[in-house]
Amino acid sequence: MSHDETGRATATYSAFRRHVTNAKRPTESANSSRTTERALSRRGSLLVALSGIAGLASACRSRDNARASSGAGSIARDDSSAGATAGGGPAVPTTAAPATQPGAGTVADWRALTADEWRRRLTAEQFEVLREQGTERAFTGAYWNNHERGVYRCSGCDLELFSSADKFDSGTGWPSFTRPIATDRIEQQTDDSHGMSRDEVHCARCRGHQGHVFDDGPAPTGLRYCINSVSLRFVAG
Ligand SMILES: [Zn+2]
Repeated sequence: MSHDETGRATATYSAFRRHVTNAKRPTESANSSRTTERALSRRGSLLVALSGIAGLASACRSRDNARASSGAGSIARDDSSAGATAGGGPAVPTTAAPATQPGAGTVADWRALTADEWRRRLTAEQFEVLREQGTERAFTGAYWNNHERGVYRCSGCDLELFSSADKFDSGTGWPSFTRPIATDRIEQQTDDSHGMSRDEVHCARCRGHQGHVFDDGPAPTGLRYCINSVSLRFVAG
């Protein structure tokens, strides 16, 4: 992370400590987002994803670690693009929106879909995060700096999960919310992977992995839902 980026993250973090946010500024990330669809080998993407998870799991663990997270791996990259992540190179953009936007009702039982069926519905990045508990690289997703008003839907099944009204600047580089849009939209389970115990959160309809929830968030809940942009599809309004 460059000094400029570090300064920005620190400033944002300070702002968070003062319980700021929800300022409605024009989004910067939405316009810069673009879809990256790469045909990855299953083995290659899994190996890279595992290394990315190991690094980013700790990065998402605490706001205080966010500034040191830029060296962590990224999700689902093949060798040709992974080089960009070494030595603080430019971040590889992550997917902004699903290649497909499955509408509610198109699948009778979302939880019954097989891995192969999910692969056909999702981009490689979405599959790594939603179906294999991957984590996108901090400050690279489409929505961490999105301040538009609207609803964040599950990028797997399109269920409405979070509202911009509950979004805050955590300074972590991942979109962060104090609560889901409704209590029955998000399920939670203990995640003991990578040598730590965290609370994993996923979509209640399709079980698509969203991120983790921590108890160091601002009012009114004191919770911080640390969510992957890749797991979301933002709908303004
Ligand atoms: Zn879902």
